[in-house]
Amino acid sequence: MEPLFVNKEKIASLLPMEECIDVMEKMFRSLAAGECLQPLRNIMRLPDGSGVLGMMPGHAAKLGVMGIKVITVFPANCESGLPSHQGVVMLFDAKHGQPLMLFDALEITAIRTAAASAVATKSLSRENSSTLAIIGSGEQAKRHIEAMLLVRNIRNINIWSRTEKNAKQLVNELSGEYNLNIYVKKNAQEALKQADIICTVTASKEPIIMGDWIAAGTHINVVGSSTAAARELNTAAIVKSKLFTDCYESLFNEAGDFLIPKKEGAVTDEHVKGEIGEVLSGTKKGRENEEEITVFKSLGIAAEDIFSAYHIYQKINSNK
Ligand code: NDP
Repeated sequence: MEPLFVNKEKIASLLPMEECIDVMEKMFRSLAAGECLQPLRNIMRLPDGSGVLGMMPGHAAKLGVMGIKVITVFPANCESGLPSHQGVVMLFDAKHGQPLMLFDALEITAIRTAAASAVATKSLSRENSSTLAIIGSGEQAKRHIEAMLLVRNIRNINIWSRTEKNAKQLVNELSGEYNLNIYVKKNAQEALKQADIICTVTASKEPIIMGDWIAAGTHINVVGSSTAAARELNTAAIVKSKLFTDCYESLFNEAGDFLIPKKEGAVTDEHVKGEIGEVLSGTKKGRENEEEITVFKSLGIAAEDIFSAYHIYQKINSNK
């Protein structure tokens, strides 16, 4: 048994962002229909605090497959020129448990995370959204710009990142690719001015977005934080928003953006308005007027990896 290893380049060619957005929409609907099993991820933290090994298993009944992503996160890797996230996704058939294929997890994670945010943005943001604020300048910042441009007619992008040099470098890269107004802003508050859509894609543990900086009608994809102790939005920002998520279980266990305000007594579980799959399938309401602030808190779920891996697996098999 020698499952084929699918590398970054092959994934990039077989899982274009536009296709992945469709795959993520199908996945969210399937999740809302109760067709996905995904135990809460297991995280092993290294004793010195330098990194973690995360294990994310899942089963997609509709596709007849199961799988697991094993991923490491070493935030200081940029100093040694390595990506902060590395790992593999393993896909198995769910009839006999046969291993089918192995995939580079970095590339799948990079694409599917932004594609999931794009599905939420298409569903929750105002249709006339034209200014995008990106908070952060790493892998997810780049991917989110690509994904947001596919679902809304974005004309202006404001970027703020903790290290200004990195924000400027990102703008240089983007200027060659897109004919848009792209600005580096001095701070996060400046970046939020006139923003219709905000994506927070940082490894910050402390809030970088304050509630009183957010204008009515904004949609926010909160992507970066994924532990109960870390958050990118402060309590006021969560209180004034309609909160949606990729998966309840992840949100109620792993989302500091929600759990910290809850601990403070500022919100209760009723503040969570639904999973994005429920909004897509019409069992929960999404945006109800032009004034509401909507937040999509994504934690990242195994079903996203498994649906993406299966899509690539099918394309490889159909080309044989
Ligand atoms: P990168 O390592 O490529 O980029 C990290 C970014 O975080 C950089 O822009 C960096 O800014 C910024 N940053 C780090 N620390 C701080 C801080 N204390 N304050 C403000 N900004 C900070 O990571 P990715 O782009 O791949 O991932 C970004 C975040 O998204 C990570 O936290 C990651 O775990 C999370 N993630 C979430 C997923 C999901 O499904 N929800 C999936 C994948 C990732 P600068 O360079 O300017 O210093």
